[in-house]
Amino acid sequence: MTSFAAADKSKPFIPLKAGGATDGWSNDDEATATCYCGAVQLKFATNPPGLIDTFSCNCYDCHKITASGMFATNFTVADTHLTHIRGHEKLTVFTQSRTIGTGSTMANHFCSICGTLMYRVRGDSPGKSILRVGTVDDFSLHETKLKPRVENYVKDRVGWLHPVEGALQVQASNDGPDAV
Ligand SMILES: [Zn+2]
Ligand SMILES: [Zn+2]
Repeated sequence: MTSFAAADKSKPFIPLKAGGATDGWSNDDEATATCYCGAVQLKFATNPPGLIDTFSCNCYDCHKITASGMFATNFTVADTHLTHIRGHEKLTVFTQSRTIGTGSTMANHFCSICGTLMYRVRGDSPGKSILRVGTVDDFSLHETKLKPRVENYVKDRVGWLHPVEGALQVQASNDGPDAV
């Protein structure tokens, strides 16, 4: 298979071995997001108004919750444009009382089998969900429609990482579009 770096990003690029599922797909308007084991699969809109925004976040919560020590890459979808294809009952919810950015509650929806964080829902922002770019099966979307428009919490970015090319740089997130 073509390497990701060499792939034509104007077409879907769905690796055959990226977790347990092999039935991810995308078209001009919609795409799937699947957890690592494959039990949970979502379908979401890849264009406005269903796709609300795209952003990365370097806040301390994101250092921790990704287990990467770095940042999270996120996109916000209107719940009217988000469908649970399978595994809704497999999701477990961990709600934290506040986040660094907003002080609001945040409900984290994980696959109870493999632990993949599928999306987060802010208590003060009903009707939309914050999905994770890494769960999207079509990797071309990671670099096109889902590329971060904004980079939040650049003040807390790890020292060896460069800014996201072309993204609006926001020091914290209260002045950004979508704190997480
Ligand atoms: Zn899973
Ligand atoms: Zn964050």
